[in-house]
Amino acid sequence: MCKKNGQQMNAFTHAMKQLRTAADVLDLDENIYEILKRPQRIHEVAIPVRSKEGKITNYRGYRVQYNNARGAYKGGIRFHPMVDLDEVKALSFWMAIKCAVVDIPYGGAKGGVQVDPRTLSLDELEQLARGYVSALFLEIGPKIDIPAPDINTNPQIMGWMMDQYSRMRGYANPGSFTGKPVEVGGLRERDAATGRGGFILLEHLRKKLDKKPEEMRIAIQGFGNVGAQFAFLAYDAGYKIVGLSDAEGAIIATKDGASINPYEVRMASERGGLNKVYCYGGVCRTLEFTQATNTALLTMDCDVLVPAAIENQLTVENAAMVQAHIILELANGPTTPKADAIFLERGITVVPDVLANAGGVVVSYFEWLQNIQNTSFDDGVCDKRLAKIMINAFEAMHEQQQAYAVSMRTAAFILAIKRISAAMEGRGWV
Ligand code: NAD
Repeated sequence: MCKKNGQQMNAFTHAMKQLRTAADVLDLDENIYEILKRPQRIHEVAIPVRSKEGKITNYRGYRVQYNNARGAYKGGIRFHPMVDLDEVKALSFWMAIKCAVVDIPYGGAKGGVQVDPRTLSLDELEQLARGYVSALFLEIGPKIDIPAPDINTNPQIMGWMMDQYSRMRGYANPGSFTGKPVEVGGLRERDAATGRGGFILLEHLRKKLDKKPEEMRIAIQGFGNVGAQFAFLAYDAGYKIVGLSDAEGAIIATKDGASINPYEVRMASERGGLNKVYCYGGVCRTLEFTQATNTALLTMDCDVLVPAAIENQLTVENAAMVQAHIILELANGPTTPKADAIFLERGITVVPDVLANAGGVVVSYFEWLQNIQNTSFDDGVCDKRLAKIMINAFEAMHEQQQAYAVSMRTAAFILAIKRISAAMEGRGWV
């Protein structure tokens, strides 16, 4: 649960409000609603990690398996100090909705460990990754629940986790995790997939608006895996990146027509250790950019705002001040329901997380297919298939939006709930 200005921001409460809104519009069967409002399974585990000095810290880990009507549970694992059960429940619900929106044969799950990974040595990080798998071994697997990376987890961590699962099974099992290093069954395209999926939708919207890339100014909150990959693609295509931030702070372009070069930021951040974008701001302060806060970035003058960090960033407190015309939600849950209502009233287009950031799970699906079929896909195939799936999902969502005269978020939920309900009915659950 995230606390902001003394106010509790409970992601699961927000997720359930979104479900209720869509259910009301759809006049959803109460039996289906009854099933959808609670996760099917919740696992809480303890993961002891021993330091070099011999001290044990026992970390709290979760895996929530929300719904598997449409296929195996699927969803990332995050390592973050603010992880709690309600957050993981919300994220697992959104995964079930997301997989249905893009129509891939998965249910939804999510995992998390309450830890600040920056405080761990590499050895402790590996113990934590392997410990998570040992604790949940019986509950996961290529036909049950396939985890992937999320905040503060990466291909190396997925590689350790897959190895731990394989050791315990007694044979190599690459299909148990996605987002792995390429050498152990990962897909080269997976790292950039979430950013690329968002970029494909941005391009689709731009063409509908009949604009040129250089006419669109983008501000991006979060320069981690998702935010950076999106920034590279947008910059290469000619969009102007006018704001960029990470947990430490933001940089904002002050000169008209200037664009931040995300490759330079990446290089500067590699030199500057943890103090990434902020450090680059220091480097460029005297040139065309200035340092700012994340709060300023969210309300800055731009055409497209891309929250790509954490939940609950766009709230009732800043929604009225947002200047962007389009919000492309690459983070999960960045907008609270109250802020959403303000954006709807102000005519701001919000491309919701359950569609906008689905590229990652789509390419994870390709990776899993490659692993369970013991094959390898040719270069370029995945990006093409991703583009087709993202555009089809956008158009299917758009059809619901027009049919019910609702926001893109509610339309995406309606599309997903229809698909999940059909699967539950087909299996005789309701
Ligand atoms: P990451 O850990 O690689 O990067 C997170 C970034 O957000 C970092 O730059 C960090 O400094 C920044 N950040 C953290 N707290 C912040 C704050 N308070 N204000 C501003 N910036 C802050 O994580 P990621 O994998 O890029 O995930 C980012 C978001 O995208 C998350 O919401 C995640 O759930 C979502 N997402 C990720 C994937 C994926 O494939 N990795 C897929 C779908 C959705």
